[in-house]
Amino acid sequence: MSTSPQLQPPPSATSAPDYDAIIIGAGMSGLYQLYRLRQLGMRVRVFEAGTNVGGTWYWNRYPGARFDSESYSYGYSFSKELLEEWDWSEHFAGQPETLRYLNHVADKFDLRRDIQFRSRVTAARYEEATRGWTVTLEDGSHFRAHFLITAIGPLSTPTLPRIEGRDTFQGQSFHTARWPHAPVDFAGKRVAVIGTGATGVQTIQTIAGSVGHLTVFQRTPNWCAPLHNGKIDAETQRKIKAGYPEMFARCQQTFACFLHTPDPRGAFEVTAEERESFYEKRYAERGFGIWQGNFRDILIDREANATISDFVARKIRQRVKNPTLAEKLIPKNHGFGTRRLPLETFYYEVYNRDNVDLVDIAETPIERITPDGISTSAAEYEFDIIVYATGFDAITGSFDKIDFRGTDGAPLRDKWKSGPQTYLGIMVDGFPNMMMLMGPHTALGNIPRSIEYSVEWVTGLIRFAQDNDLTRLEATRAGVTSWTDHVKVLGEGLLSNEVDSWMTGINRNVEGKQIRIIARYSGSAPAYRARCDEVAAKGYRELLLA
Ligand SMILES: Cc1cc2nc3c(=O)[nH]c(=O)nc-3n(C[C@H](O)[C@H](O)[C@H](O)COP(=O)(O)OP(=O)(O)OC[C@H]3O[C@@H](n4cnc5c(N)ncnc54)[C@H](O)[C@@H]3O)c2cc1C
Repeated sequence: MSTSPQLQPPPSATSAPDYDAIIIGAGMSGLYQLYRLRQLGMRVRVFEAGTNVGGTWYWNRYPGARFDSESYSYGYSFSKELLEEWDWSEHFAGQPETLRYLNHVADKFDLRRDIQFRSRVTAARYEEATRGWTVTLEDGSHFRAHFLITAIGPLSTPTLPRIEGRDTFQGQSFHTARWPHAPVDFAGKRVAVIGTGATGVQTIQTIAGSVGHLTVFQRTPNWCAPLHNGKIDAETQRKIKAGYPEMFARCQQTFACFLHTPDPRGAFEVTAEERESFYEKRYAERGFGIWQGNFRDILIDREANATISDFVARKIRQRVKNPTLAEKLIPKNHGFGTRRLPLETFYYEVYNRDNVDLVDIAETPIERITPDGISTSAAEYEFDIIVYATGFDAITGSFDKIDFRGTDGAPLRDKWKSGPQTYLGIMVDGFPNMMMLMGPHTALGNIPRSIEYSVEWVTGLIRFAQDNDLTRLEATRAGVTSWTDHVKVLGEGLLSNEVDSWMTGINRNVEGKQIRIIARYSGSAPAYRARCDEVAAKGYRELLLA
C-alpha cells in the first residue's frame, strides 16, 4: 500500500487522523507491535528509516556480526507455528541468518504492507485538540495518529569518534552499524579498526585472517570471554523445538531473561580450588554463563569481582604470547562483567599473528585522520580501509534525534537533559498517548523477551482504552518521579554503575554525554514485569485516563 506524503502545512487538527497508531521503527519491537495492534483492528503505520525490516540486524552487516544470546532464546515466542518452522543453524546465529529470520516473520504475517521504508521521523508533536500526534518525516511530510509508539532501538544511533580530519581520508571507511550491503574486499588491504567493544571484537577476529595488515586502535580494553559457538545438529534441533515452552518459561524466571541463572553461592562461600574449577567450567561453556551464571556476588562485591577478573586476566596472559601485549589487553579500570561482556572466538589469538598490531590510544592518542591514514602522537599509519567500531549513542540517542513535543510544547530532549524520566520505562508525563518500547528505564537483557512483554503491556493498555472509550492516556508526574527514583535506587551498589560505559550514558564522542546517568533499569526482569502486571491488574489507575 502506498501513502502519498501530505506536504506542508501540517493537516488541520480537526481533520480525522490518518491512522489509529503510528509506530516508529521496524526492528523486532516495531514488527511485533504492528502484529499485535492489527489484531485489535487498528489502522497502523510503521515508519522506518531503513529500506527493509530488521532494525539492528538490517544495519549491522559488519563481518562477524552475530548473537551473544542463544539463537533459540532470542527468536519470537508468540507463534508456535513460527517456532516449529524455523531452524536456527547455529547456537549463536550470524547477522545474515537473523535478518533472514526477521524477513521471514515480516512475510509470514504480511507485515510489510503497513510499513513505509526510507521514512525517517524527525519530529512528533502532541495536539490536545485531537488528543493525537502529528509525526513529521525527513521529507517534510506529516501524518497523524491517535497513538504514537516508539520502537527506535536501544542501540540504533551510531557514533563516530570526534577526530579531526575524518572527512579527508581518501581510502574506504565504514561504521560497523552502517555497513554497505555489498561485500567489502579486505584481501591484501591495510586495515585499521578503531574500537574494541563487542562489535570491534567480532570484526577484528573475523577479518584478521583475510586482510593484508590489521592495526587495532584500542582506547579501553574490554573483558571478553569465549562464545563457544557451534552448529546445531538435527537431534539438538529436535530437542530445542520440543523444549521451547520450558525454555521460554526459564527465560521468564532469570534475572535478565537469558538462559543462564546465577549460582546461589557467593564467591567466598567456596574454597579457592572450588572457585577456580567453577570458573574453568564457566569459561568452557557456551555464551553468557560466565557473566549471568556466575556467583551471585561478582557484580556487587568488589573482592568477589576481583577473583573472576584475576581468573580471566590469567586466561588472557595464557592466550596472548607477547606479555606486554597481553597486559595492554587486560582491563585495569573496571572489573569483569561491569560493562557488557563481548563474547569472542579466538579474539586473543589474533594478537599472536604477524599481520596484526595493537595501538594503545590511551598512551598515544589519535591526533587526526589524514588523507592516507591515521596519525597518533607517536606515529603516522597508512591505511586502505578504516573501520569505525565506535558503537552507539545508546538508549537515549535515538530519542534525541527526534523533536518530540508534548502537551506544553516542551521538547522531550529538555525534560531528559539530566537523564531520562519515565513511568515504567514506557510513558512520560506531558506526553499523552505515547508509549516507548525498549526505551530508557525498561528491562533489557536478552532483549526480545523484554520486547514481547512490553508489546503485550502496551497492547493491553490500548485494548483497555478501546474497551472503556478512553482517548487520552498519560503518566502522572508523581508516577514518573516514583519510577525514576526507583530505577536510581536499584542502580546503587552495582559495580557496573560506577563505570563509564554506554550503560551509564557515557559517550565521549557525543556532546553532552560526559556525565553518568541512569538510563538503564538494573533490577530483575521478573520484578519489572510484576510491577507492570500490578498496574494493569489494578485498571491502570496510576495513569491519568480520560
Ligand atoms: C551488533 C549487535 C548485536 C546485538 N546482539 C544482541 C543479542 O545477542 N542479544 C540481545 O538481546 N540483544 C542484542 N542486541 C541488541 C538489539 O538491538 C536488540 O536485541 C533488538 O534487536 C532491538 O530491537 P528494536 O526493534 O527494539 O530496535 P532496533 O532493532 O534497533 O530497531 C530500531 C529501528 O528503528 C529505526 N529508527 C530509529 N529511529 C528512527 C527514526 N527517527 N525514524 C524512523 N525509523 C527510525 C531504525 O532504523 C531501526 O530499524 C545487539 C545489538 C547490536 C547492535
